[in-house]
Parts: sequence; C-alpha cells; structure tokens
Amino acid sequence: MLQGKRAIVTGSNSGIGLGVAVELARVGADVVLNSFTDRDEDHALAAKLAADHGIKARYIAADMSKGADCRALVEKAGGCDILVNNAGIQHVAGIEEFPVEKWDAILAINLSSAFHTIAAALPGMRAQGWGRIVNIASAHGLTASSYKSAYVAAKHGIVGLTKTAALECAGQGITANAICPGYVLTPLVEAQIPDQMKKTGKDRETTIREVMLDRQPSKQFATVEQVGGTAVFLCSPAADQITGTTISVDGGWTAL
Ligand code: NAD
Repeated sequence: MLQGKRAIVTGSNSGIGLGVAVELARVGADVVLNSFTDRDEDHALAAKLAADHGIKARYIAADMSKGADCRALVEKAGGCDILVNNAGIQHVAGIEEFPVEKWDAILAINLSSAFHTIAAALPGMRAQGWGRIVNIASAHGLTASSYKSAYVAAKHGIVGLTKTAALECAGQGITANAICPGYVLTPLVEAQIPDQMKKTGKDRETTIREVMLDRQPSKQFATVEQVGGTAVFLCSPAADQITGTTISVDGGWTAL
C-alpha cells in the first residue's frame, strides 16, 4: 500500500516508534529509524527491517532535544512523505519539585522536536502534493494526571500543533493527525512492573489491573502493533479527509 513512500519515525529504536516503523515497513514504506544513540545495534535494526520486509531502511542518529538536529534529520533523510513524531520521555514529580532541566527536556523532545521536523518536512511535501504527519501524543494530550505537568503540557501542545499543521496544509494532499495511546506495553512500561509489584505487594496481573491500568477501562494494555496499525490507517487513502484530529488507542480511558 505504501510502496515507494519514505517515512521518518523519530525515536524508533524501541517501543512504539519501532512498532510504527515495522507496521509501515510491512505495507511497503521505506523507513528511516532514529534515536540519539548511534550504536551498531541501531544500524543493525534498520538492516533487519529492510531484510524482513524487502524495503529500504536506514538509521540516522539525531538528538531530538536539539532543534538543529531535528531539522538535520529530515535533511539527511532527503525529505519524507510520512513523518511520525514519536520521540518522547517522561518525568514524574509535583510542580514545585519538578526539576527545571527535566521540564525543558520534556518540552524540547516531546513537543518542540515535532515543530522542527514538520517545518523541515513540509516544503518537500507541499512540492509533491502529498504528505502524512502523524504525531504520537498520548491520552495525556486530552486529559491530565497529577505529577506529570511537563508531559501533559507537551502532549496537549502537540495536539494543538497537529491542528495548526492540518489547517496550514488543508486541501494540499497533506494531513496531520495525532494518535493518543493509553498505556502501551513497551519495554519501558514492562520494566516498571516489578517496582510497582513491590509497592503494592500484589501479583503481576493484579498490579497491572489495579495500578497501571487503573484508568484504562478495558484493563488491557494497547500494543505497539495497534498504534502502528493506526498510523498505517492514517496513511491510507481511507484517511485522506481525516486531518487535524486525534485518534485514541486507549481502551476507553478518555471516554471516562
Ligand atoms: P521508549 O522509551 O521505548 O521510546 C522512546 C524513544 O524515543 C526511544 O527510541 C528513544 O531512543 C527515543 N528518544 C528519547 N530521547 C530522544 C532524543 N533526545 N532524541 C532522539 N530520540 C530520543 O518509549 P515509548 O513508550 O515507546 O514512547 C514512545 C512515544 O509514545 C512517546 O512520545 C511517549 O510519550 C508516547 N506514549 C507512550 C505510551 C506508553 O504507554 N508506552 C503511552 C502514550 C504515549
């Protein structure tokens, strides 16, 4: 379906970003993987993706906390047809105690990076009259939680940026949408389970249901494949008139 389309997925050497990259590759898109690490295994991951799906894939290192790096990523990739802004970090603390450097890093990586990559990608998309911008926001782009001020602010911000990009590109073959996942079972989330089990003194299943998925009515994690499949849908012809909106993949969290 997406043969010949070139996708950049930021923050894609693990978790949701990698899941989105795999789903795009599965339907034929060429993919640029990214993170800030530049290890041999990052390049190997791109080579495996190419071999597994018969597409072109490469890894480009860029630090999404730096505007110049974000723009250079798009330039080094030679532009793109599909831009997935996924890189993101989290820090949990009350507002009074929230470390200023963590606030700045979260706003830079989770929000400003998308401003820079979109600005760099749009001229090429406009010239060819086709483009898909998919921002990985969060249920926290639509609702708040205590102790996540920077994350919630950044994710609400990226929803606003998505709407603005959609308006500026309306009718030009370019759409911009945000996917809002609830809790997704990524290696990062998996790693939090033992700690949470220690705190609750309960077994894995009870801890997941009562603590981690407290606000997710389905009591089931979303998967990276489901988030990736939603991104693929947003790149499909069925979604040509879907722009400036959010799609929740959250087991009912935001219906509460
Ligand atoms: P993850 O830690 O597995 O992935 C984060 C990715 O971002 C990694 O590839 C990492 O290398 C990259 N990254 C971090 N800092 C970077 C930087 N400075 N420059 C370049 N890359 C950088 O986490 P994840 O759970 O897969 O999260 C991916 C996105 O999905 C984030 O934006 C997150 O907010 C969002 N999200 C996650 C969940 C969840 O439950 N896992 C839910 C909703 C939204």
